Amino acid sequence: MGQGRGWEGAVLKLMRAKDFEFTVTGGEDVTADYRRLTFTDGGMLATTGVHPTMWVRLWFDNAGRPHQRAYTLVDPDPQTGAFALEFALHEGCASDWARAAKPGDTIEATVQGTGFEHPDPAPSHVCVVGDPASLPAVNSLLGALGDAPATVWFEGSLDGLPCLADPARHEVREVPRRDGGAALVERVRAELPELLASGPDPYVWIACDTATTRALGAFVRKELGVPKQRVHALGYWRAS
Ligand SMILES: Cc1cc2nc3c(=O)[nH]c(=O)nc-3n(C[C@H](O)[C@H](O)[C@H](O)COP(=O)(O)OP(=O)(O)OC[C@H]3O[C@@H](n4cnc5c(N)ncnc54)[C@H](O)[C@@H]3O)c2cc1C
Repeated sequence: MGQGRGWEGAVLKLMRAKDFEFTVTGGEDVTADYRRLTFTDGGMLATTGVHPTMWVRLWFDNAGRPHQRAYTLVDPDPQTGAFALEFALHEGCASDWARAAKPGDTIEATVQGTGFEHPDPAPSHVCVVGDPASLPAVNSLLGALGDAPATVWFEGSLDGLPCLADPARHEVREVPRRDGGAALVERVRAELPELLASGPDPYVWIACDTATTRALGAFVRKELGVPKQRVHALGYWRAS
C-alpha cells in the first residue's frame, strides 16, 4: 500500500504506521465553507482504539503524486467502525477531494503521530485557541475535559458551524482573521494572562496556522512561564 508515496510514505512505514482504507458513506455541506463526510473505517477503530482529538493522515492524489494531510475524527464509534470528518474548505487537494466526495469513494489513511494525555492535575481553567480547521479537535477536547471551565478564542466566524461549546461553562471569543493571524495573536496576548491567573492549574491548547501557533506557544511558555506540560501547541496548517 505504501508504493508510490515516495520517501514520506516509506518513513511512515518504518515508523510502524498502520494503513487503512476508508469508504465514504455520506456528505453534508454544513456551510458553504465547511463540509462533513461520513465514513466506514476499514477496521481501523477496532485496531487502534480512539482517544480525544484523534487524527489520521489521509493520502490524497495530487495529479498522480501523493499528498498527505491530517484530519480529525468526529464521533468515532469502534463498535460500528463509523466516524465523520469535517473539512474547513479552502484552496487545496484535500478540500477539492472533500467537495467532490460521494458515497462509495475511498481514501487511504495512516495512523501515526496522534495521541492524547489527559492533563494532570485536571485543569482549573482551559484556554483554547483554534480556528475552523481545528474546530473538530476543539470540540473533542472540550468533551474530554469534562467540567472544566474554558475560554475559546476562535479565529473566524462560528456562524452555522458545529461548535459544541457549552455556554454554561465555556466562553467563546470570535476573532476575525486579519494580517495572517496577527489580530488573533494580539487578542490572546492581551487577554490570556488574566485568565491564567484565575485558577491554580490552567491548561493551554493552541491549534491554528503554524506561524500563529508558534508565536502563541512561545508567548505562553517563554513570556508567561507556563510549564511545557500544561501547554499543547500544534500548527494545523501552513499559510501561504
Ligand atoms: C493534527 C491535525 C488535524 C487536523 N484536522 C483537521 C480537520 O479535522 N479539518 C480540517 O479542515 N483541517 C484539519 N487539519 C488541517 C489540514 O490538514 C490542512 O488545512 C491542510 O493543509 C489541508 O490540505 P489541502 O490539500 O486542502 O491544502 P494545502 O495543499 O495544504 O494548501 C493549499 C492552500 O490552502 C491554504 N490552506 C491550507 N489549509 C488552510 C486552512 N485550514 N485555512 C485556510 N487556508 C488554508 C494554504 O495556505 C495553501 O495556500 C488538521 C491538521 C493537523 C496537523
